[in-house]
Formats: sequence, structure tokens, C-alpha cells
Amino acid sequence: MLIKHAVCDKCYEHFSVKKLESAVMEDDISVEKNYFVCPSCGKEYVVNYADTEFRQNINRIIAIGDKIAQLRAVIKGKKKVSGEEYVKRYNEFNSLLTEQRKLIDRNKAISQKYKEKYKEEK
Ligand SMILES: [Zn+2]
Repeated sequence: MLIKHAVCDKCYEHFSVKKLESAVMEDDISVEKNYFVCPSCGKEYVVNYADTEFRQNINRIIAIGDKIAQLRAVIKGKKKVSGEEYVKRYNEFNSLLTEQRKLIDRNKAISQKYKEKYKEEK
């Protein structure tokens, strides 16, 4: 799976990121750093830091994503349901979207906290 194309800001090499590396932090083994490295100069790019809560949130985000996909089929009218049932599903769909957005924001905040904690060490 191709994750993204990147341009190294140190050596300007263009490269594609196919797989993230991960490393457990020495001072806290519950925290995992996910990163990739420029193949040309070796500069490290941290994608995120994941702790226990981060990983739980990811699992929930994936589960919500599946449910959202099912509900979207109902809302887009591919599955016929009654008016009352439609409203119920529509509200559920919206609250799941909100929950998913909150979890994504929460994970950004978690990752950012560790980015600040570990940035001095290199
Ligand atoms: Zn480079």
C-alpha cells in the first residue's frame, strides 16, 4: 500500500512511502513512534506517536467507519426504510461522524503531546 509521496526538505529527493517504520520509546514502552526515513539522506520524518489510548481510538475510528458506510447506504436511498427509521439512522449517522471527528482530533492532540516531549532528544 502506498501511503504518500514525499519530498525530503533536507536533500530534495522525491520518494514514495510504502511502509512506516515503528519504534518503541525507551522511557515508555507503551508509546510507539511511527515514522519513515528519506532513502537518500536518512532524514527521519515522524508521522505520529501512538500510545494505548491512541490505539484504542484507532480501533474505534475503524469500527465507526464501517458503521458509517452502512448508514450512508441507507441515507443515500440505496436501502429502502420507513420515514421514522430514516430519521433514526440519519441522526445516528451524524452522531457517529461527530464522534469520529472528535477521536481523530484527540489522536492528533495525543501525537502532538509526544512530538513535543521527544523532539529535544535528537
Ligand atoms: Zn533526504
